[in-house]
Amino acid sequence: MREGLFEIFQETFQELRPGHSLPELKIEFFAFANINNTIRLREGKLLVRLSDLLEGAPDTVFRAIAHILLAKMYRRPIDRGQAARYRKYVGSHDITRKAHLVRQMRGRKRLLPARGHFYDLDAVFEDLNTRFFYGLMARPRMSWSQNKTRRILGHYDPAHNAIIISRIFDHPAIPPYVLEYIVYHEMLHLKHPVKLRGSRRCVHSAEFQAEEKLFPQAGQANAFLKRL
Ligand SMILES: [Zn+2]
Repeated sequence: MREGLFEIFQETFQELRPGHSLPELKIEFFAFANINNTIRLREGKLLVRLSDLLEGAPDTVFRAIAHILLAKMYRRPIDRGQAARYRKYVGSHDITRKAHLVRQMRGRKRLLPARGHFYDLDAVFEDLNTRFFYGLMARPRMSWSQNKTRRILGHYDPAHNAIIISRIFDHPAIPPYVLEYIVYHEMLHLKHPVKLRGSRRCVHSAEFQAEEKLFPQAGQANAFLKRL
C-alpha cells in the first residue's frame, strides 16, 4: 500500500464530516479495464478501489480522488477545484495513452480454463501456495496457453493478473514436479513484482533466484526441461 494514502482519506473524511469517525477503510489498487475508481459501504466498512493506472499519481491527485469519492458516498457537494484537478490529471497525455494501451492489451487477451486434459492449474497453484507461501498468495487467473509453445514455457501477465502456462505441459509424460517448477517460477514473479517500463523483460533479481532454488526438485526439473 502506498504510504500516506490512508491518511489522505482520513483527512478528507474529517473535512467532509467533521465530528464523525471514519468507518473501517480498505483501499486497494485494482486493474480496471480503464481509469475507474469506486467506493462502497458494506457492512459498515468502506471499500475503495482505485485504478492501478493511478498508482504513480501525486498526493494532490489522490486528495482530489478521496474528496470526489467520499463526497459522492456522503452526498456532499463536490468541490470544483478538486474535480478539475482530477480531470486534468486523468486527461493528461500520458495517462490517457497508458489507459488506451492497457485497455487494448486487456481486451485482446483470451484466457482459457485452468483445467486441462491432464493437469488442473488451479490445483497446482493451491498446492504450491500451501507448500511454499503459507497459503497467503491470492490466486490469479490460471490459464493454459492456446498453442503448444516451447518458446515461452510460462509467463505472468500483470495487466490481466494471469499466469499462462504452455499447453505442452498438460500431458501425462510431464512429471508433476516439472509443471510445478514452471508454475512456482511464475508465482515468484507475483511475489517479486517488476516495474515494467515499456519493455517486456522477464527480470529475475538475486532474491528471486535464491528463492527459486528452494524448490526441492529444481535440478531435476531443469534437466528435464533441457531435454524437452
Ligand atoms: Zn521469469
